[in-house]
Amino acid sequence: MVGIDLGTTNSLVAHFTEGEAEVLANESGETLIPSAVAVSEDGALLVGRAAKDRLITAPDSGRAFFKRDMGTPTNYRFGGRSWSPVECSAVVLREMKRIAELRLGKPVDKAVITVPAYFLDQQRQATVEAAQIAGLKVERLLNEPTAAALAYGYRENSDLNTLLVFDLGGGTFDVTLLESFEGVVEVKASAGESRLGGEDYTEMLMNWLCRKYQWSPPVSERLRFRAEVEQLKRAMTTSDRAMIRLAGNDIEVTRKDFGEATYELTQRLRPVVRRCIRDAQLTKKHLDGVLLVGGASRMPIVSAVLLDELDLEPNRTVDPDRVVALGAAVQAALCARNEAVKDLVLTDVCPHSLGVEVSKVMANQVHDGYFSPIIDRNTTVPLSRSERFNTLHPDQDEIHLKVYQGESRLTRENQRIGEIRVKGLKHRAGQKDPGVVEVRFSYDMNGILEVEVTILHNGQKVSEVFEQRPGTMSKEDIREAIARLQPLKTHPRDTPQNRARLERAGRLWADVRGAERDALTMVVDTFERALASQDPARIREAGEELDSFLNPYFPPEE
Ligand code: AMP
Repeated sequence: MVGIDLGTTNSLVAHFTEGEAEVLANESGETLIPSAVAVSEDGALLVGRAAKDRLITAPDSGRAFFKRDMGTPTNYRFGGRSWSPVECSAVVLREMKRIAELRLGKPVDKAVITVPAYFLDQQRQATVEAAQIAGLKVERLLNEPTAAALAYGYRENSDLNTLLVFDLGGGTFDVTLLESFEGVVEVKASAGESRLGGEDYTEMLMNWLCRKYQWSPPVSERLRFRAEVEQLKRAMTTSDRAMIRLAGNDIEVTRKDFGEATYELTQRLRPVVRRCIRDAQLTKKHLDGVLLVGGASRMPIVSAVLLDELDLEPNRTVDPDRVVALGAAVQAALCARNEAVKDLVLTDVCPHSLGVEVSKVMANQVHDGYFSPIIDRNTTVPLSRSERFNTLHPDQDEIHLKVYQGESRLTRENQRIGEIRVKGLKHRAGQKDPGVVEVRFSYDMNGILEVEVTILHNGQKVSEVFEQRPGTMSKEDIREAIARLQPLKTHPRDTPQNRARLERAGRLWADVRGAERDALTMVVDTFERALASQDPARIREAGEELDSFLNPYFPPEE
């Protein structure tokens, strides 16, 4: 069993062994695998770095950032067919499974997968489906900040801690407050925004530059320019100023400029931090530390906001890129009852209020559509709570119990999860009392809700687990999706490593000229011939030769 951080921009797979969690690397030594999928010119499926590289020169050949669309009916078109976000995620998960099997030398078919704390029910369900398509059974969906806390709690072994986990990833923002005491990690509250992340900073900086210099990149250059702005943004993390080339001129951008350009985004971080602390019924004085998660939390702006809001310097002992995957691996060890973690206990919270729709009688009139919560948001899970409801009239025999999640008083502004029909509420003839039901909600660690309705006067029970939600896939759909991915299985010639080499070579070829181009052509031709021969030794040798040609042009990412 492995732990997988299925991220918006990058994904990682980790494994727990000999009392330690470790992140696993692919053939090229990469651990941060871009969450990108593309189809090459000759119809092969690309994933990770190769897909990300291809998207720069051929934006319509695939897709990245599909995590943001999980649980929605969105579809993308590339490679001559349509793809759902679930299928794209499945391709990434299958690659993580492949990397794990490569490193561990044995089949891997179970995983703990992390999701943002603010993922709704449908988004969680979509993640489980993606795993099924990839051939992985989800042992547990773990909230990302909780995973971070687990990795941190396991490492630090500190005595008593009230920690705030600040997670700013590529596309999502989550804040979680948790308490750990002698190995017990308890989540007290979580808050977040599902559409705020490092990518928005890149986008804002890009727009700011275009506005300020009254220039915009031609459509074909947009992704390349965006990649340069991304580098600029990262440079702002380590230095006060950096250069970017724009419309043929070298332009200097300072950290102050960056702060101004993205001021609006940074302001949106503050209320989420405050709400989380308030929901936990604590004040900033109770906090012992702040833990950073997600690549974008490296930005100095983030530390400045935290210092200003909480008077605390963030802790930097665990790498923000790896901490979630490491926590997922610790959880996998917990699920597998590994000896090393037997003293660790974890609780979590449900991120949304869950309840049913009720009618109210006011001035002798019935008003429908009110939300009556049974489980409040940020209550510790697993848990089970019940409430009693009665029918409006004594002769009413049936109710349609509509289940919702959300924080609005009115159900039409919340998200509908499903419905249960209960019959036989009428008492025996002659009785004037309305029927009474007890509605029990049980919510487990995976965010799966079971609703049980008991008719009090006769003890009859109806229950339902809300797994078949609108917009989700049936078993048949999943089988079909698996079948659709089959023909795209990696051919020996198309291993991700060799694909990535050819993609890079293609990009470089487009960039260079003259003698450099001739030299590159020679090395690539040798490599192509080696691939055609299917001789592993030849492929290895030619591949290494090609790598030593390409590497100076493609510095490894941080
Ligand atoms: P994640 O989803 O955790 O992989 O976060 C990726 C996000 O972090 C992307 O938006 C990156 O641009 C951003 N990021 C990664 N490294 C840095 C850095 N050194 N400075 C600023 N942002 C970064």
